[in-house]
Amino acid sequence: MSLVRKNILKIAPYEAGKPIEETKRQLGLREVIKLASNENPLGSSGRALKAISKGLKGLNRYPDSSGFYLKRKLARHLNLEPGNLVLGNGSDELIDILIKAFVEEDESIVTSEATFLEYKIIASVNGRSVITVPLKYFKYDLDAIRRKIDKKTKAVFIANPNNPTGTYVTRQEVDEFIRELPQDVLLVLDEAYDTFIDVNDFPNSLGYIRNKNVAVLKTFSKAYGLAGLRIGYCVVRPELASYMEIARQPFNTNSLAQEAAIAALDDREFLKKTRKIVLEGKGFLYDQLKKLGLAYVPSVANFILIDVGRDGAAVFREMLKFGVIVRDMRQYDLKNYIRVTIGLAKENERFIRVLKKVLRGDRR
Ligand SMILES: *Cc1c(COP(=O)(O)O)cnc(C)c1O
Repeated sequence: MSLVRKNILKIAPYEAGKPIEETKRQLGLREVIKLASNENPLGSSGRALKAISKGLKGLNRYPDSSGFYLKRKLARHLNLEPGNLVLGNGSDELIDILIKAFVEEDESIVTSEATFLEYKIIASVNGRSVITVPLKYFKYDLDAIRRKIDKKTKAVFIANPNNPTGTYVTRQEVDEFIRELPQDVLLVLDEAYDTFIDVNDFPNSLGYIRNKNVAVLKTFSKAYGLAGLRIGYCVVRPELASYMEIARQPFNTNSLAQEAAIAALDDREFLKKTRKIVLEGKGFLYDQLKKLGLAYVPSVANFILIDVGRDGAAVFREMLKFGVIVRDMRQYDLKNYIRVTIGLAKENERFIRVLKKVLRGDRR
């Protein structure tokens, strides 16, 4: 007999992007840039930072368990009701809440291979089984997913855009998928990168929630630059929200995160600047990668999956020594790839300089 549950023994731990300070310490480097976790290179919304300083004096109190003001603000922002919203300690936690609220212990979830690892990890930690379907041309294959749905399936998780590929499923594809979704299956659309979309056929996911079993996940971690605070939300119809509220911990989102999120929502300037930096950086990186003769997957998010034509983990390690942190794709079974987050112009330039050196065989 083992003290540890059998499902825990089988799970490979999540490997986060390498932190800047740790890299400096381990390699004795002074200048390190991190392009590994799809964070906002501009920092955080100034309005959010101001709200955080103001909120410091209330830290002796528990946060508002209902998240009243943030939900009211979001509801106005999205033209929905506060009852449509569930707050989470990042959207990671909302994945956990969804599984706890809706997926029985003998039921399963279906998702894709080479997608956000947390679906599989969180479901497995909860002892739920996970069925995965290969990507098709780096894209979620909704037809194949539909064929995998059986009597035991309770939820389908789709990252749209997908991380780590940056591809998306279109409005037409999702419409069709939802039309054929069995009655008691929940579709989760995880839209962590919605701000960066630059195409016209992206689904209007909030339009589904009224009549269908659809939950949409959003986060303040990426475009709003608040990854360290941990705050995200789920949009669903009120009945489903009420069950998620039961499954969550009473103080899952902290007071500073709630206040910062309220302020960040008003910071249109910051969002506009962020989007501009990402779209310009994307153009620059595409050009440079073409010049280097490297294939990449066109992305609608703030990161690019690049085929480096050799072991991606080795390229990651060599780039690290030059002070550039990217992400290797071993955990996603994409051996010859790295994923790079689009950074500031000077960070993108440094990334390309160092990538050239490493591919040339320079060692440090
Ligand atoms: C980054 C990311 C999230 C955001 O997670 P948080 O817990 O809100 O920081 C969610 N889904 C995907 C696909 C992501 O890449």
